[in-house]
Parts: sequence; C-alpha cells; structure tokens
Amino acid sequence: MIIDFADRLRAVRDRLRAAERRFQRPSDAVRLLAVSKTQPAAAVAAMAAAGQTCFGENYVREALDKMAELTALALEWHFIGPIQANKTRPIAERFAWVHSVDRLKIAERLSAQRPESLPPLNVCLQVNIDREPTKHGLDPMEVGEIGIAVVALPRLRLRGLMAIPAPAADFAAQRQAFARLRILQEQLAAAGLALDTLSMGMSDDLEAAIAEGATLVRVGTALFGPRR
Ligand SMILES: *Cc1c(COP(=O)(O)O)cnc(C)c1O
Repeated sequence: MIIDFADRLRAVRDRLRAAERRFQRPSDAVRLLAVSKTQPAAAVAAMAAAGQTCFGENYVREALDKMAELTALALEWHFIGPIQANKTRPIAERFAWVHSVDRLKIAERLSAQRPESLPPLNVCLQVNIDREPTKHGLDPMEVGEIGIAVVALPRLRLRGLMAIPAPAADFAAQRQAFARLRILQEQLAAAGLALDTLSMGMSDDLEAAIAEGATLVRVGTALFGPRR
C-alpha cells in the first residue's frame, strides 16, 4: 500500500482543527504528536517532509536507530513507552519529552542523567485513569505526592499528565475517562501544582480527548496506517 503522507497529515490536522472549533477550544490549542513506533525511518522522513516535526516512540533501541538515520532533520522526539530503569540514560540523553513517567525512581534517574548541555527534560506523569490492575501508570490518588517530588528534580520540567484509557464503547464513555484526567489536573492546580499539558487522545478517540481539554494528541495509525 502506498500512503500519501501529506494527505494523511492534512486529514489528521483537519480533525484537530474541527474538534477545536466544535468544542470551543482556541485554535491551535492542540499539538499533534506523530507516533512512529514500528514505522521505518523512511516513513518518518516522509512525514517530516510533509511538515510534521514531533514524533513519538515506544522502544528505545528502535528510536535510537531511527534517530541515527535521520540526524539531518531537526525533529523533536518524545518517548511514550514503558520505561525500564536500566534504559533511562539514552532516554535522558536523546529525547525532548517523556510522557510515560510512572515511578519516582524513574524520574530521579532521568533527572540525574539529563546532560547539562541540554535544557531540562519535559515530562508527563502517566496516570492509570481507569485503575486497571494490569496497566502502567500511577494511581490517580498518588499523582499529587509524586508530582511534588518530581517538580523538585533539577533537570526535569514537569509539564502534565498522560493517560491511555481502556477502550470505550462510544463517544460519551470516551469523554468520561478523559474528563477524569482533566479533573485531576484541575485538582492539582488548586493545590498549587499548575501543569500546562494533557497528553491524551489517539487515532480513535482524539475528538473526545479534545472535548475534555487535551493539549497534545498522540496519533499513529491515522497518520501512518496499520503497524507491522
Ligand atoms: C501506539 C501509541 C499511540 C498511537 O496509537 P494509534 O491508535 O495508532 O493512534 C499513542 N500513544 C501511545 C502511548 C502508544 O503506545
């Protein structure tokens, strides 16, 4: 299958702008992160040529290989996958953002390993918003305490919250999970922890996420087609 990346990118951007208008969000309130996991470097290069600059990756090895092939391009890389403690160094050294911090120990390692030559690493705390027992992410009840500890780490900049809700049957149910993340953000702000980022929404539910205040949506399939 031949994908016209410029067409795909235009279509997804149109969805973002349409959802912003429909839900009375300011225009350009929502950033698009292109999730390129399992896609070849050539697909990232094609999407970059079409105008996309931010890319999300889930696997460290795969991401480093792609970065090595694409050094000529000024891309912003976001790490969005599960983080093993022994893999934090390349993440701290090579990425601009990490969306999937779900333990204080990981945050401490990322801060300690962030090179002085780079700006602080932007991080989001991943929240297990449906409290699914098998899922990654902090329990909503522990986010406040961990958030305060992460803010104190010198080489990190705590930007917001990220969630991957359980699949929901319809639009109203999708919105409910995203609303819980937004309310958690509001509670943290009221307690003195103001965060500017809600990383939520993917190919199938980005409109519901934008309705509930997403500032960044992470989109793979709708941009690149099915993953191999
Ligand atoms: C794979 C992935 C996405 C993209 O999902 P699509 O349904 O392909 O848009 C977004 N966020 C995370 C954390 C992912 O792992």
